[in-house]
Amino acid sequence: MTYYLGIDFGTSGARGVVIDGEEKICWEFQYPFAASGDWVAVWRKALFSILEQIPLEIKEEMRAIALNGTSSTVLLCDRAGNPLDAPILYNDDRAINELETLKKIAPSHPIVLSATSSLAKLFWWYRQPIYSQAVYFLHQADWLAFLLHGQLGISDYHNALKLGYDVEELNYPAWLQKLPISPLLPQVFSPGTPVGTVTPEISFRFGLSKKCCVCTGTTDSIAAFLASGATQPGEAVTSLGSTLVLKLLSSTKIDNAKYGIYSHRLGNLWLVGGASNTGGAVLRHFFSDAELARLSQQIDPQIESPLDYYPLLKKGERFPLNDPELEPRIEPQPDNPVEFLHGLLESLARIETQGYQLLQQFGATPLYRVYTAGGGAKNEIWTALRQRYLNVPVLASSYTEAAYGTALLAARSHDELEKRGRK
Ligand code: ADP
Repeated sequence: MTYYLGIDFGTSGARGVVIDGEEKICWEFQYPFAASGDWVAVWRKALFSILEQIPLEIKEEMRAIALNGTSSTVLLCDRAGNPLDAPILYNDDRAINELETLKKIAPSHPIVLSATSSLAKLFWWYRQPIYSQAVYFLHQADWLAFLLHGQLGISDYHNALKLGYDVEELNYPAWLQKLPISPLLPQVFSPGTPVGTVTPEISFRFGLSKKCCVCTGTTDSIAAFLASGATQPGEAVTSLGSTLVLKLLSSTKIDNAKYGIYSHRLGNLWLVGGASNTGGAVLRHFFSDAELARLSQQIDPQIESPLDYYPLLKKGERFPLNDPELEPRIEPQPDNPVEFLHGLLESLARIETQGYQLLQQFGATPLYRVYTAGGGAKNEIWTALRQRYLNVPVLASSYTEAAYGTALLAARSHDELEKRGRK
C-alpha cells in the first residue's frame, strides 16, 4: 500500500486526510484551535499532533505530504526559518496605508492592490525595525512545509499570486524584482512539486518513511476546488457558504479588476473565480438551518417564483453586478415563509447563473457541469431549482474537505514523479 497525506490549515483548525493509491480516504483527523497570541506555536503543535495521530503502519508507507494554508497568511523569518514577528493573517488589513505606494509601483497588477495581499503585508514589514533581520518571507503553507523538509525560501504559484508572481510567465515581473524587498521573495514552483524528503529528525520522531517527500502546497480555497472532482474545462464549483463564490475551470485566463475576477493557474488551465456578497448569510438572517431544511421541502423547484430579489445584508455588490451603491432588494416579503424562501433561493440561483454568464462573456470556457460545496449544497430542492436556471448538470462535490484536495495534489505529483523516473 502507498499513502498520501494532505493537511489543511483553516481559520479555526487543521485537518489531516490520508488517501491511498486509489484516492480513497483511509484516515482523517481534525485538530481544532482557537485564536491565539502565538499562532506559530499553535500551528506547529497542530501539525505535529496530526503526524503523531496517524497510525504507524500508514506512516511507514507514506509517500508524499502536501499542505495548504489560508491565502495571504504570511511570516517574516530569520536565516534559520524562525519567525521574527507574529504572522500576519489572511484578513489583517494593517497594510492599508501601503496601497498608495503599491498603486504607483504596480498599477496594472490589481491582484496585489489590496490591504490584505501578501505584497502589501511585505511592504508593511519593510517599514518596521524588525525587517533588518529578515531573510525569508513565507506563506503559512511554505513555512509549515519547511518544518517537514527543512528547506527555506520555497513557495507555490497559488500562494504567490497575491505576492505579485506572474503565473502566466512563471516569474516575478521586472517591477517587483527591482524593489528593495526582492531578496526576500521565495522561489516559486507549481503546486504539488516535490521539494525534498522529510528531514531525518521528522522521520525518526514520527515514524514516517524516510522516502516520504514533501511537496509545495496550495491555498485553502483551491484545495477545496481540487477536492470537488472537477478537472475538465467547463467544470465549475459553486460554494454556497456565507457568500456565493463561483470557480470555473477554463482554457482561457480571465482577469477583470472591476468585477474582482481573477484566475489561478491550474496546470495548463485557469481557475477563474468571482465572489458575490449574496449567499447563505442572508438566508441565515431570516431562517435557522432547521427551518431552511424543512421549508425547502415544501417548495416545488419546477415552478418559478414571481419574486425578484437581490438579497444582500448591506449595500454594495462587486460580482456579477459591480455597484458599490446597490441596495439590498428583499421586498415584497410574503407572509407565507415557504413562498419567501422560494423567492430567496430562486433569486440566488439567478445571480449564480448571471455570474457564470459574465465569466463566459469575458471569454471563459462554456459551463458544462457544476459541483456544489458549502452549507447550501445539501439542499436538494435548491439544487433542482438551480439546475433549471443553469441548464447543465448540478452535482454535489465528491469531497468538500480542502485536506482531501491537498492529499490529491500530493498523490498526483508523486505519481507523476514515479512515471518520469521509470521513463
Ligand atoms: P461558511 O462560508 O461560513 O463556511 P458554510 O459552508 O458552513 O459557510 O455554510 C453555511 C451557510 O449555509 C449558512 O449561511 C446557511 O444559511 C446555509 N445553509 C445551511 N443549511 C442550508 C440549507 N438546508 N439550505 C440552504 N442553505 C443552507
